[in-house]
Amino acid sequence: MVKSRKHESSDLKKITAYPSPSSEHSIPGAAHDYFSMYCYAWDALDEGPASFARLAREAGLTNISLAASYHGGKALLPHNARHHVYFIEDGAVYFRPSRRFFGTTKLKPRISRIAANRDIFRDVVEACGKRGVATTAWTVALHNTYLGTTYPEVTTENVFGDRYLHSLCPSQPHVMAYLLALAANLAMYPIDAVEVETFEFIPFRHYAFVEKEGMGVTPLASLLLSLCFCPACLSVAKRFHINALAVRKAVSRWLNHYFNGENRSLGPIESGISSIPGLGEYLNMRFNVLADRFKDIAELLHDEKKRVIFLAIGQERRLDYPTGVDLKLIAKNSDAIETLFYNRHPQEAAGTVRAIHKAAGSNVNVYFAVRPGHPDAEDAGGVIRMTNSILKGGGNGISYYNFGLFEKFHVDWIRRAIGQAKDGKNKPFRMSVKGDMSRKYKARENFVTANVLRPGI
Ligand SMILES: [Zn+2]
Repeated sequence: MVKSRKHESSDLKKITAYPSPSSEHSIPGAAHDYFSMYCYAWDALDEGPASFARLAREAGLTNISLAASYHGGKALLPHNARHHVYFIEDGAVYFRPSRRFFGTTKLKPRISRIAANRDIFRDVVEACGKRGVATTAWTVALHNTYLGTTYPEVTTENVFGDRYLHSLCPSQPHVMAYLLALAANLAMYPIDAVEVETFEFIPFRHYAFVEKEGMGVTPLASLLLSLCFCPACLSVAKRFHINALAVRKAVSRWLNHYFNGENRSLGPIESGISSIPGLGEYLNMRFNVLADRFKDIAELLHDEKKRVIFLAIGQERRLDYPTGVDLKLIAKNSDAIETLFYNRHPQEAAGTVRAIHKAAGSNVNVYFAVRPGHPDAEDAGGVIRMTNSILKGGGNGISYYNFGLFEKFHVDWIRRAIGQAKDGKNKPFRMSVKGDMSRKYKARENFVTANVLRPGI
C-alpha cells in the first residue's frame, strides 16, 4: 500500500528559485481541432522562419510541434537546402535558456550550436504566430545522455549499481529542478502548449546506443534491469514505508539466477512481479512518484496558461511497469494524451481511442502522431484515410511526423487531408480502402528499415 504521497515534492520545492504553482488552475484545453506537424529547429531555420510559417498556414495546420529540447541522433533530410544528413547534438535545447530559471539549478542546459547566437525558437514561434499558427514546444525530458554523462550522479542506478547515462531519474530533486526551470522558461515564449516526451523512468532498453546483448532477455528480466535504486529513489521508498534494500536484494538475487540460466519461464509479467517480495509496492511507488512529479510541471504550465500534452509512446494500457507511467494518474493533469499511430491500418483508430479512454479516462483528449508517408501512407488518399479515421474514431488531434524527415510533397498530402477533414466534419464518413493492402505492406519490406525499435523517439 502507498501511504504518504503528500511529502513527495517538499525537497524539490526547496531548491526551485521561483514560486511553486498554486493548486488552483484552469485547464484551457477543451476538445478542439488540433492539426500539428512535428519539426526540428534546423529544418524550420533552413527553410526560413517566414517561409516555414507560410507553408504551415497553407497546409491548414493549427500548430507546429517545434523541438525545444531533444536527444541525439542522425537524420536523413530529403529537402533541406543545407544538409541531407544531420547529426543531432545530444540533449541540447533550441531556445535561449535564461539565468532567471537556470541560475540556481545544478544541471545546466546544453544550448544547441544553432541557437548559440540567435533565439531561433522565438523566431519560428513568432513567425508562425503572425500567420495564425500556434506552437507546441516538443520537449524531450528525461532521456538526455549529455546531461547524464555530465552529471552521472542523477542518472538511473540499476540494482547492481551500474548507471544508465541516457536516463535521468525523476526521483532526483536536481533533475526535477532542471525540468521545472525548462518548463518555466518555455512558458515565457508565446506558445500554446508543451508536449512532454520521455517523462518516465527510462527503461533498460531504450535504443540510445548500439545495444549489445548476447543472451535472451525476457520481459520480466528487462523490467528488473530497468528499476532504479539510486539514493533519491531509496529515500522516496523510505517515505512510502517500503524496505527498498530488501527489494533490491530480492531483485538482485532473481537476476543473478537469471544470468545463470534459471528463471526463464515466460508467464504473465504480473505473476513474475508477485513472485518477488516487495516488488509490487516498489512499482506502485514509481507510478505515484512519476505522476506527482508530472503534476508539478503541469501545474506550473497551467498557471502560465499553457496546455500540457503527454506523449505516451505506444502505451494503451493504464499501467506500464518499466516506465512507471500510470496513464490514468498522468491524464488527470494533461490536456491531451498523444500516442503513435504508426504501422497501423486506419480502421484501428476507433479501437485505439477506446483503449486509451479505458486506460486514461473517457474524458481525456487523445492525439495521434502519424506518418503522412513512408511507411504508413503511399499517397494523399492514405493520409486522408488515416486523418479521417482518427477524427471519426474519436481522436481529438493529429500531429504529422516530421517536416524535415519526409519529402516535401507530403506537405501537400497533409493540406489535402486537413482540408477534407474540416470540410467533411459533419458529413457521415465511410471507410474505403483502395487496392490490396497486404500487397502494399509486402512491398514495404523492400526498403531498408532504420534501426529504431521504439519508433518516434
Ligand atoms: Zn532513481
